[in-house]
Amino acid sequence: MTASLPRAAAFAGDEVGRHDTLNSNSATYTTAPADGSFLPGPVLLFGAPGVGKGTQAQILVSRFGIPQISTGDLLRQHRRNHTELGMIADGLMRQGQLVPDDLVNKMVAVRLCEPDAAAGYILDGFPRTLAQAEWLDTFTPECGPLPPTVAVEIRVDETLLLRRITGRRTCPGCNRIYNIYFNPPQRYELCDDDQTKLVQRADDTEEAFLKRMEVYRAQTMPVVPHYQGTGRFRSVEGGGSVDAVAAAILEALRELRTEFPVPSLTSASGVR
Ligand code: AMP
Repeated sequence: MTASLPRAAAFAGDEVGRHDTLNSNSATYTTAPADGSFLPGPVLLFGAPGVGKGTQAQILVSRFGIPQISTGDLLRQHRRNHTELGMIADGLMRQGQLVPDDLVNKMVAVRLCEPDAAAGYILDGFPRTLAQAEWLDTFTPECGPLPPTVAVEIRVDETLLLRRITGRRTCPGCNRIYNIYFNPPQRYELCDDDQTKLVQRADDTEEAFLKRMEVYRAQTMPVVPHYQGTGRFRSVEGGGSVDAVAAAILEALRELRTEFPVPSLTSASGVR
């Protein structure tokens, strides 16, 4: 059964590993790549708050059938479950501060060994510090060696980012999302579909954005030279349409996996 396959076998494109459908907790994933010819393996999507990492990660998830691993989402899940980690993370997350590296690394170590991650995954929000990036490079989980992570940075001009974030409004009735600058409703601050008054999320204010940018610049930007130094890095322009950015990311991943292929069954099984 796929769930018990060695990680290396699944990475090598083993028939069972690629075509089975897996259940992991509540989610169901398929590990078959939609275009049949190419698996991106472990990928890091990198960029400032609001560049569209989540949107682009979802596109890769549906294209390749590999999971998005968002440390923000995992921490929120811990908070909801009132775990010890969730309690520690809660206050830090509220202040826009980072959760300590060792705690986040441990959480990621567990997640990377879940069966749905065997054919690759999209890291979103991790590594967020140089120490986390260094840990990931040297980490060998119990379930088998990891192919090297390749990183794609999405670059967006900061003025544009600010407008994307502070302009975002959501309809509390139907969850439709607008932007008062780029995609406004027909009537001022009212949803086109159900006329409900639109709301702004608490962390979409200019003040909250500037705080998150400060943390990003100080703690997360040093991750870029780390990946640049390994060569496993591309940067794409993220100011265009969602489709244009998705195409640029795909191109970058193809290039990266030509240079840094996911290990073959022979060499990977030798390692195990
Ligand atoms: P996000 O949803 O990615 O914006 O993350 C929300 C919050 O979770 C962040 O502001 C941090 O407090 C925390 N967090 C998420 N990922 C990490 C990480 N890799 N390292 C430390 N803290 C994190």
